[in-house]
This record gives sequence, C-alpha cells and structure tokens, in this order.
Amino acid sequence: MSAKIISGTEIAKQIREEIKAEVVELKEKHNLTPGLVTILVGENPASVSYVTAKQKTSHELGFYSIQDNQPADIQEGDLLKLIDKYNNDPQIHGILIQLPLPKHINETKVLYAISPDKDVDGFHPVSVGKMVIGEKCFLPCTPAGIVEMIVRAGIPTKGAETVIVGRSNIVGKPIANLMLQKRPGGDSTVTICHTATKDMAFHTKRADILVVAAGRPKVITADMVKDGVAVIDVGVNRIGQTPEGKAILCGDVDFDAIKEKASFITPVPGGVGPMTITMLMKNTLLAVKMSANLE
Ligand code: NAP
Repeated sequence: MSAKIISGTEIAKQIREEIKAEVVELKEKHNLTPGLVTILVGENPASVSYVTAKQKTSHELGFYSIQDNQPADIQEGDLLKLIDKYNNDPQIHGILIQLPLPKHINETKVLYAISPDKDVDGFHPVSVGKMVIGEKCFLPCTPAGIVEMIVRAGIPTKGAETVIVGRSNIVGKPIANLMLQKRPGGDSTVTICHTATKDMAFHTKRADILVVAAGRPKVITADMVKDGVAVIDVGVNRIGQTPEGKAILCGDVDFDAIKEKASFITPVPGGVGPMTITMLMKNTLLAVKMSANLE
C-alpha cells in the first residue's frame, strides 16, 4: 500500500478561496472588513517570517491588517497598554501576539490580556474552556487545521482509535480534545502519549489515526504503526541547511518508510503548516461576524 499524501497546501488554498468569497460578501452586505493585528516583539528570524506570512495571507484575503513591531526591550506594562488599545479598536477583530516573547515579559499575563472576543489564536483560557465544553469559540489554529484536514481528506474519525504523541497546550492537548468531541471530525477514542509513556509503540501500533507533535525528528518509525493508519505529522524539525542557506525540514515521522504502510499521510513541509495560518484567518473572519452578531 502507498499512502494518499494529504496536501495541506491544496486544502488551505481551497479554504482561503472560501474565506475570500465571504470577505467580499461581508463588505457588500454589511460594510464590514475583518481586521487583524499581529504584534511582533523583537526580531527573532523565525518569528519575523511567521508574522510576515500571516500579514501576507491576510492582505491577500482582503483583510484590514496591521503589523505592529515592538522593540525586544519593551516593558511588559507598555505591551499590556498596546493590547488594551487594540482591544478597544473597533477596526480590529483579531489580535495575535507572536510567541515566544522575550524572557522579561510574562507570556501568560500578556496572552490573558487579549480580549476573549479578539483571541484569534485561541490561547485565552476562556477560549480553551469553551473548546473543552464544545461551545462555539476560537479554536487554536494548528489543532483546528488538523481536524479540518482530516475531515476534508475523508478520514473516518467516528469510533476510530486516535493516538496523539505530545501533550503541549498548543497542539497535543487541544487536538486530543477536538478529536473526542461528539461531532464531525471527532467522536474518536483518544490516547495521549508523552515522555513518561512506558511503551509508546504499544499505543501507536493500535492507532487508526496517529497525530504526532513531539518535535523530535523521525521519532515514529514504520515498525511502530499498523497497516492502513492515517498519519498527521505536526513536527517541524530543522535538520540542516542547503548550500544556499535554506533550512532543510523534516517531520516527526519517518515519512518515506511509513507512507508504504499508511492509508493517508501529511508531508513536512506542505502538510499541517499551511493549515495553521489559514485557520487564523478563519478565526478572524469568525471574530468579525461575532462582533456584528452574524454568528
Ligand atoms: P512541545 O511544547 O515541545 O511539546 C512536545 C510534546 O511532545 C511534549 O508533550 C513532550 O512530552 C512530547 N514528546 C517529546 N519527545 C517525545 C518522545 N520521544 N516520546 C513521546 N513524547 C515526546 O512542542 P509543540 O509546541 O507541541 O510542537 C510540537 C512540534 O510541532 C514541533 O516540532 C513544532 O515545531 C511543531 N509545530 C508545528 C506547527 C505547524 O503549524 N506546522 C504548529 C505548532 C507546532 P512531555 O510533555 O512529557 O515533555
């Protein structure tokens, strides 16, 4: 068997077209434009490239968008004031703070300062709580993108054994939560593995759906999965660079070997990555609609 390769790039493109059409309609019918601010503190090269990509996408989709760059030595109080300014700006519906923040700033305090109505990253405890109880809310972008991919690829989730490797607050825990919700893309039986798991292969071999978010190159090998498994590889690991200085990336699973056993598999790059930014845009669209009681 050779797996169907799920192209996150293609699925993301489809969703972006859908969002674009909704943006046009919102403008025509309600004179509304989704507004997104991305706040970047300092000049960490990876963060710069992430916010640049987010800005580029939001412009392409017809959003009103601002990139607010702040110096690495900004005081926490000043950052909190800035957030407050955007919390009260009616043209801004979504606020994204690019993480990580410099060490002198309390990341939790900053994230909690974002109004839950503008929490398009879905990290505020109000959003997390609503997600857990299954209420409509801003879902964290990477897990929401994974569910969207699974649904659009036609992978059956109801009653499936879903095994997740990783329990971070931004990927592992929320994806576990979404996969067990009683609705399309969920309804599966979820197991979560982490570094204290005694026999990881015992669990991964049982998986119908395996989501790997460990941040360890090729931590999942072909002998750890069963035939026909659907594999979602969230990991992005830099394992070297090309002579031109471009990063060489690999995921958390041994793609070449596992694709011969799996039914579906996501590549790295071009899998989960493009979905994450797209779900941020979807959340911003939801935010503007909620602000006008259209949701
Ligand atoms: P993280 O905060 O470092 O969490 C990694 C998790 O994996 C932890 O729960 C850790 O367990 C577990 N783990 C690590 N090594 C393991 C092993 N050998 N066996 C079992 N469990 C192991 O990372 P993250 O933020 O969730 O991100 C995970 C990966 O996804 C990274 O490569 C990141 O770059 C990537 N990512 C990609 C996107 C995207 O858009 N494509 C978005 C977010 C993250 P403990 O809790 O026991 O330490």
